[in-house]
Amino acid sequence: MKYISGLIFHEHDFIEGYVGYEDGIIQEIGKGRKDSEIKGTIIPTFVNAHTHIGDSIVKKVLGGKIKGTIEELVKPPNGLKHRILREAEDEEIVGTMSSTIDDMLSSGISCFWDFRELGIRGIKQLYQAQIGSPIKSRIFGRPQKMEYCKDEMEALLKVVDGIGVSCITDWDYSELEKVAKHAKKEGKLFSLHASEAFREDIDLILDLNPDFLIHMTKANDGDLEICADNDIPIVVCPRSNAFFGLMPDIKRMLKKGLTVALGTDNVMIASPSLFDEMRFLSERNKLYRLSDDQIFNLCLNSRKLLNPKDSIGFKEGYEAELLVLDISTSNIPHHILHANSRNIKLICMGNWEETK
Ligand SMILES: [Zn+2]
Repeated sequence: MKYISGLIFHEHDFIEGYVGYEDGIIQEIGKGRKDSEIKGTIIPTFVNAHTHIGDSIVKKVLGGKIKGTIEELVKPPNGLKHRILREAEDEEIVGTMSSTIDDMLSSGISCFWDFRELGIRGIKQLYQAQIGSPIKSRIFGRPQKMEYCKDEMEALLKVVDGIGVSCITDWDYSELEKVAKHAKKEGKLFSLHASEAFREDIDLILDLNPDFLIHMTKANDGDLEICADNDIPIVVCPRSNAFFGLMPDIKRMLKKGLTVALGTDNVMIASPSLFDEMRFLSERNKLYRLSDDQIFNLCLNSRKLLNPKDSIGFKEGYEAELLVLDISTSNIPHHILHANSRNIKLICMGNWEETK
């Protein structure tokens, strides 16, 4: 059995203790000191709750020169990113996605929830990009055109975890209704961006039975309350919102009792690192007014998207998905919010692990 010890995140708190694991499974968790080769602050690996890693090609094509509104850059079908994605070669898209997956892995992400464009072609590219990587994913595909096609949906639903679309405003609602219903009928997940740049009708959104929503930056109190009543988690992507001059009112979402998780959205706008997303919130705390614990919890909450009542932490018999960080333990979790991939001493994801 291999042991790691130090300050462990356990049952919503940090304790002095150790974790023992073997064959990728946690066998023992204990309080107190234990001799171990690797010592540090031990936290669960991160789950990035919202990405579009297909946008890695857009980042490469545009370099640092990214400007524009939501409509000009990301709105389907003719926003700049969609034009670049349509025109790029498969090989180039796959290559750039693979490097983004490597970046995520080195920043401690063990799983990412991706909204993938380009229909079946896009899903194939994503699977190809993941070959050989220990990282896991939840893949949300979408029809190639913004219309329902039964054959295409049947093919898509065989290879995805769910369907993830842009927003109700972009779609003919009756077509989107058919897409959502079909996904649910097959027992798949359904999600969409909602009320990002302007408020959208929450009743129409919830009638589609989404499992969780992305953004809700322009949602009003009533919209948030109805999501809380229906146990629908919200994924926020503050850096992406800030790029477009928007800001999610996370404090208000938490006050309403919502489960709020962190994603990083478009790769050409924000890096896929959750350390970067947490630091962004911490550095702008005059605006966001969140405690360090609240920010760290947003990051951990991505593990609760499908079961908001789940608890987070290490449990015996569970897969060993953990990070050992080399950071000051004097002010936890503040130093986690200001860490980066260089502070990671060990990444363990089940049977795969890397010591740095
Ligand atoms: Zn998105």
